[in-house]
Amino acid sequence: MNNQLEQFASDNNSGICPEALEYMLKANQGSAPAYGNDEWTQKATDYFRELFEIDCEVFFAFNGTAANSLSLAALCQSYHSVICHETSHIETDECGAPEFASNGSKLLLAQGENGKLTAEAIESLVTKRIDIHYPKPKVISITQSTEVGTLYSIDELLSIKEIARKYNLKIHMDGARFANAIAAMNKTPAEISWKSGVDVLCFCGTKNGMALGEAIIFFNKDLAEDFDYRCKQAGQLASKMRFISAPWLGLLETGAWLKNARHANQCAEYLENKLLSIDGVEMMFPREANAVFAKLPEHAIQILKEKGWQFYTFIGVGGVRFMSSWNTTQSRIDELVNDIKNAI
Ligand SMILES: *Cc1c(COP(=O)(O)O)cnc(C)c1O
Repeated sequence: MNNQLEQFASDNNSGICPEALEYMLKANQGSAPAYGNDEWTQKATDYFRELFEIDCEVFFAFNGTAANSLSLAALCQSYHSVICHETSHIETDECGAPEFASNGSKLLLAQGENGKLTAEAIESLVTKRIDIHYPKPKVISITQSTEVGTLYSIDELLSIKEIARKYNLKIHMDGARFANAIAAMNKTPAEISWKSGVDVLCFCGTKNGMALGEAIIFFNKDLAEDFDYRCKQAGQLASKMRFISAPWLGLLETGAWLKNARHANQCAEYLENKLLSIDGVEMMFPREANAVFAKLPEHAIQILKEKGWQFYTFIGVGGVRFMSSWNTTQSRIDELVNDIKNAI
């Protein structure tokens, strides 16, 4: 099997980056207290506080589905609802885990261009019904960068913050590709999170270059009350926590988290530019982070598949998603582009 061929399917098809692996090996010397009472976990959580320039509460979970579901459950009661985009991962790719973890909080879906919620769409969902028969809106969930590879600008985030304040809603951010957003936006982590009203951020380490491990960051510390119990009950408290926190420290301390994200974004930009020069290829969404969504002729998609290229085709008929990651190489992109040209 040629593993190289897989690399445009998803950023979680990539392996562990050297910095994360190095810190994992460092953490493997001798023994350490379990359940997060170790030095690595202390250092990593302190680093997050420094990075975000605020005293926040930090927890770790094994994957994004758990991080999103448990944090959403912490923000609402079972009779509340969560407003999200119809393409959001919590709606389409988590097998009902947010509803399950919250004992039934309902997701309310909104539409919006380029995978983004707007203040208007949120307001119309909140004001549509105010009677007792409707699950009361309590949380807005936004994904940065979005499922279609776009970014919420600071202005867009601030207009959502304003609507959240107006209707007393909490803001959850799915940061599966938060690092890619930071790399693309020239903004600080604080600016696009708590300064933009985000109460809790799920910051993904896996797609950035770790083996596994997501940080759940509560900027609103009151909301983190008993969250450690929620994680434990859900089977998300790692006993050998240091093997999640040490690689996180490796990403943060060495700057690899930004380097990896920048590299992935640059690869996507390179691919986009190459594709734009081919007749018969159209972009489906603005390319703003590490995803390229392109419309290709159906016969060309078939040929690429037969050649062994792997990519997702689940959004829109005739559309393909090419995702870059920390280990994408320019030569593989060139080969892909070449095969696309020939196929068309
Ligand atoms: C990958 C991803 C997640 C996390 O998915 P898991 O498979 O549960 O780790 C969450 N949100 C978005 C937008 C993602 O792309």
